[in-house]
Amino acid sequence: MSFTFQQQETVSLLKQLVEIPSPSGYTKEIMDFMEQFLKEINVDYKRTNKGALIATIKGDNDTKHRLLTAHTDTLGAMVKEVKSSGRLKLSMVGGFNWNAVEGEYCTIHTAEGKKIRGTILMHQTTVHVYKNATALARDEQNIEVRIDEKVTNADQTRKLGIEVGDFVSFDPRFEQTDTCFIKSRHLDDKASTALLLQLMKAIKENSWTLPYTTHFYISNNEEIGFGGNSSIPEQTVEYIAVDMGAIGDGQASDEYTVSICAKDSSGPYHYELTRNLVELAKKEGIDYKLDIYPYYGSDASAAIRAGFDVKHALFGPGIEASHAYERTHVDSLENTAKLLYSYINSEIL
Ligand SMILES: [Zn+2]
Repeated sequence: MSFTFQQQETVSLLKQLVEIPSPSGYTKEIMDFMEQFLKEINVDYKRTNKGALIATIKGDNDTKHRLLTAHTDTLGAMVKEVKSSGRLKLSMVGGFNWNAVEGEYCTIHTAEGKKIRGTILMHQTTVHVYKNATALARDEQNIEVRIDEKVTNADQTRKLGIEVGDFVSFDPRFEQTDTCFIKSRHLDDKASTALLLQLMKAIKENSWTLPYTTHFYISNNEEIGFGGNSSIPEQTVEYIAVDMGAIGDGQASDEYTVSICAKDSSGPYHYELTRNLVELAKKEGIDYKLDIYPYYGSDASAAIRAGFDVKHALFGPGIEASHAYERTHVDSLENTAKLLYSYINSEIL
């Protein structure tokens, strides 16, 4: 295999990506960054009405296409209510547990473009005042944002420009340990996005000729269920979602290998295409795990449900503690990068 994984460059790009706030519905800045990246590496692309980018690299065969997608949107929240105390109630964007963001620093993005800092807390946090706080539900009622401004009532908060409908992003707290773990929020799915961008860059820099025209679909609405399910070029035969592997009790996935998904909540992925990915991994000596994700859907299954006639599959890096403070290891990124490389150079079934 003539592919070399650019570890530090990939990790630096990943850090840049997670540090751009991009809850689903508020992805203009991250998609502008993507567009700039594609311009710099000289890849043709188009932007869809929904805000996604479809980059295309022509291959030897231009009648059968393949498509790879990763998503840049992340979990986040919206201001639901300005409370009489001047603090904020939140409404979730995407699916997570409130305890996963309790204590997290956040930014409120006002309509005028101001960024106001705050902390997500239980209303009943102070142990010197609230006796039974541990027994209370972490939910929309009890979770609030303490704003880092001198406010004690709703009018003062509104004067800052904060209103219902403002987006709230969570600090990623990116850290690369000297043991090569990456700890950060939003590794789902910015880890895969970084891998796709790096792959396109390598194709251009090395002037590799791909066997088939290949689309790289950077989607921006996956966490809310409709990322890459439109504007799919009609020649597309194979559709691969590059998204996180789910780790937990009874799961095969881990933080060191590439996870290939056989089935998730949406049903089985395309059997022959999935087997083909496993055979590629075996042939190239790529460490992989074949797994089933119990509570999971992807842009590939969303595309199938939207009615597209494609063969669909899903693989990606294993992400520990998904939709919370996530972690993976560079080994998982490397194995995913290698499978991506061998896949884009393989035959379409
Ligand atoms: Zn994801």
